Amino acid sequence: MIAENIKILRKRIEQTCQKCGRKDEEVRLIAVSKTFSLGLIEEAFEAGQIEFGENYVQELQEKHTELAAKNIQWHFIGHLQSNKVKYLADYVSLIHSVDNLNLGREISKRAEQHNRIQDVLVEVHTTDEATKFGVRPEQTVGLIKELSLLTHLRICGLMTMGPFSDNPNDSRNSFRSLCDLKKQIEAEGILNVRMQHLSMGMTHDFEVAIEEGATMVRIGTAIFGRRLKNLN
Ligand SMILES: *Cc1c(COP(=O)(O)O)cnc(C)c1O
Repeated sequence: MIAENIKILRKRIEQTCQKCGRKDEEVRLIAVSKTFSLGLIEEAFEAGQIEFGENYVQELQEKHTELAAKNIQWHFIGHLQSNKVKYLADYVSLIHSVDNLNLGREISKRAEQHNRIQDVLVEVHTTDEATKFGVRPEQTVGLIKELSLLTHLRICGLMTMGPFSDNPNDSRNSFRSLCDLKKQIEAEGILNVRMQHLSMGMTHDFEVAIEEGATMVRIGTAIFGRRLKNLN
C-alpha cells in the first residue's frame, strides 16, 4: 500500500511539474514519517524512498539507530531546541527549522565536534497565525547574515508552512512570499549562502507549492495515512 501511495504521489508531482514547465528532478519528496512505525518506513524505503522527515528529536534518534543499516537520509523538520541539537549533530542530513541565531550557533558548534558541516534551511513565518515557529520575513536577511558567519553551518535555502486551511489555494501567498524572499536574499549576495532550496508544501498543498517554486515537499499523510496523534 505504501509503495502504491508513493507511486501515485510521484505521478502527481510529475504532472504538476509538467503543468508549470518545471523538471520533476527539481522537486525532492521528503516522506514525513513522524508517529509511524519502523515497518512502514522500511516499506517506503523498499519502494525507493530515501529521504525521510521527522519532527521529534527522540523519535528520530530511535529510528535512526534502528534503521542504521539502511542508507536513509534523515531530515529534521520540527521545532528544534538548542539543548537537543547534540543528539542529531552527527548524522542528520538537513535541518529545515533554524529560526534564531542561538540555535544556529549550537548547530555549528556541535557539527564542528563531529567534523562536519551541517546543512540547514531557515524557517520563515509567512502567515498571520500566532502558533507557528519561524523568523519573520522582515528579519530574515539580518538573521541569515549572522548565520552565514558560523563556520560549520551551511545555509541552503528557506522553509515555511502554509496556513491551516483545507483550501490549498490559501497557501499560495505564503509560498509566493517565501520565493520572493529567496530572490531578495540572492540579490544580497551574502558570502557562503546559497539559496538552493525552498522547502514548502504538505499533503494538502504541495501542488500549489510546486507551482510557486518548491524544491522539497514534505509529505506524510498521502504516503502513510492519517496520524492517530495529531502532533505537529
Ligand atoms: C507533519 C508535517 C508535515 C507533513 O504533513 P502532512 O499533512 O501529513 O503531509 C510537513 N511538514 C511539517 C513541518 C510537519 O510537521
